[in-house]
Amino acid sequence: MPEGDTVWLAARRMHDALAGRALTRTDFQVPQLATVDLAGQNVQDVVSRGKHLLTRIGPDLTLHTHFKMEGSWHLYRPGERWRGGPGHQVRILLENSEWQAVGFRLPVVELLKRSEEGDAVGHLGPDLLGPDWDLEEAVRRLLAAPDRSIGEALLDQRNLAGIGNLYKMEVLFLQGVSPWTPVGRVGDLPRLVSRAQLLLEHNRDEPAQVTTGDTRRGQHHWVYGRGGRPCRRCSTTILVKGQGDPAYERVTFWCPRCQPEPAQAEPS
Ligand SMILES: [Zn+2]
Repeated sequence: MPEGDTVWLAARRMHDALAGRALTRTDFQVPQLATVDLAGQNVQDVVSRGKHLLTRIGPDLTLHTHFKMEGSWHLYRPGERWRGGPGHQVRILLENSEWQAVGFRLPVVELLKRSEEGDAVGHLGPDLLGPDWDLEEAVRRLLAAPDRSIGEALLDQRNLAGIGNLYKMEVLFLQGVSPWTPVGRVGDLPRLVSRAQLLLEHNRDEPAQVTTGDTRRGQHHWVYGRGGRPCRRCSTTILVKGQGDPAYERVTFWCPRCQPEPAQAEPS
């Protein structure tokens, strides 16, 4: 699942393959960019902002892509067979003399002026893997809606950028917090957010998203994808339920014993 760490690693690999070199061929399989040809332009750098990828090309252009649930970038040597999906799922090819970067199933593809990057990513909260990560600001944004459930708030990229559904569930388990706890009633919010940041940071150099420290197959996660199975800590059955606005509802897994809901507020 593409989360902040996945996109960070993609950006680093893309940067290593493309930055500082001229593109020799480009192909955009998206209607609004079908006539664009960036051959001859130099790639300046490739950076991630939360789950967004920005590829800065030439003096003034930025290619903005977002993975959402299904997209990915793959790197191939020229002549190597593409394995990211059937040809009709290819959205972008960026090629130089040594590499082909192929974007599959990218739901968001737009070419911006460099000065317009803010329109694409300016709404994002502090980036957990960004150079400007700001814990206090992320906590401040989360607490601005204290009645919202922490499970929904952590996924809102306007609060902090980079946490997807997997890390949301895993960090809530590690912190012993129910996904339905209102943000304002989470015991130690800065610690929870710091923990999420560490999880992403520890995983960013590897494609695997391991939160248990156990890299054996099937042992990577505490609760994610484990509905109906026993909790690794207490053997209670892991529960699963949709959470959030029905239009954006995300499946959530949690252990009701390790992550109890807070007691009802005391009468004032
Ligand atoms: Zn448990």
